[in-house]
Amino acid sequence: MFKKILRRFLTDLGEMEGDYRVFYLKDDIAYSTLYISIAILGVLSMIGMDALLVKGRSDLFAWLMLYRASFVLVSILILVALWKTRKVRIHDRLILGWLSTTVLFFLLYNFTRPTNSLTSIVDVLIPLAIYIFSPLKIVFNIALAFGFSIGTLYVDHVYKTGIDPVTLNAATIAQFVVHALGLVSGLQIQSYRRKAFKAYVEERDAKEMVAYLANIDPLTKSLTRRHFFNIAESEFLRFLRYRRQLSMLVLDADHFKDINDTYGHYAGDLVLRNVSLVTLEQKRAQDTFGRLGGEEFGLLLPETNFAQAKIVAERIQSAWEQTPCIVDGKLIHSTVSIGVAEAGPDDRSFEDVLQRADRMMYKAKEAGRNRIMPE
Ligand code: GH3
Ligand code: MG
Ligand code: MG
Repeated sequence: MFKKILRRFLTDLGEMEGDYRVFYLKDDIAYSTLYISIAILGVLSMIGMDALLVKGRSDLFAWLMLYRASFVLVSILILVALWKTRKVRIHDRLILGWLSTTVLFFLLYNFTRPTNSLTSIVDVLIPLAIYIFSPLKIVFNIALAFGFSIGTLYVDHVYKTGIDPVTLNAATIAQFVVHALGLVSGLQIQSYRRKAFKAYVEERDAKEMVAYLANIDPLTKSLTRRHFFNIAESEFLRFLRYRRQLSMLVLDADHFKDINDTYGHYAGDLVLRNVSLVTLEQKRAQDTFGRLGGEEFGLLLPETNFAQAKIVAERIQSAWEQTPCIVDGKLIHSTVSIGVAEAGPDDRSFEDVLQRADRMMYKAKEAGRNRIMPE
């Protein structure tokens, strides 16, 4: 029931809940630092007030000093632990610990006040601060703020005597008002943060999708020509700079026009996808496989010399030949002609290497297809 009401007001992030908290962890630590520091300063400034209030009672003053010093110490320790933490779970425990300490600290403080006086505006500010600044789940914030209010009202109504009833009623109403205000603002702040996070995730996913569509060829799942060239050019720069070995294969499906003419364009598409997936399976993770156009592909092999590239080409050629595509119960065989080239000292750009591999591929065609050039 309570959860349902919350869900009405707070964007439900479902599985993203964990990511959402991690996303804001740094911000939360920064805010916590701010409000813990303010509390520390507030408590330190109370020491001045103590000196005035308990004038002439050095024993009481000493006790108050000890009391405040322990709060400051606990707060500083929690603050240092907060700065070191990278985990939401630990962060939340520290904040919960600190807020509980603070609530108890102020409740105990109320007992020490003269019996016929109400405590300051702090009583109203504490629940409000919990609702607005605490990054914990709303349920925790409600429990902490209510705990404080009930304690305060107990002290005012039961423990203290001789308070003017009008003032007492005003203080009680103020507690109710502050909860209503705090709850509404707390819900709004958390709801805004959740919406902002959701919008961020949606934009990030959309960008990833656009990048995916721009980089991956939908039919063959190999890289698009543009993306292949981007990678190839940066690999070539690495070759130039560090003289690492770099080889290139150009692969062109044999008689592909005949496959289309015999089985139809749709079957041709499936064959193309099949041979592309076969090649993707054969390549290593660091190799780059892209569709250069039509039924022609490129495979870039970093850290690979000519002899090793030829072995890769042979492997692909035989895998391609031995993996026919099944369309409508028919086996469609296809073969490939592969040109091999290794980047050398005379190459000025990636295009130079590509052109040589391309020339070799045409030589393989001239020599009868389904082969590697040079052999
Ligand atoms: P070769 O052995 O000399 O390479 O002969 P080929 O028929 O493969 O070469 P050609 O360049 O004459 O024809 C390429 C054919 O590949 C023509 C074109 O319709 C077909 N093709 C290119 N892209 C696709 C595609 O995405 N899907 C299908 N089904 N066919 C394609
Ligand atoms: Mg062809
Ligand atoms: Mg071609």
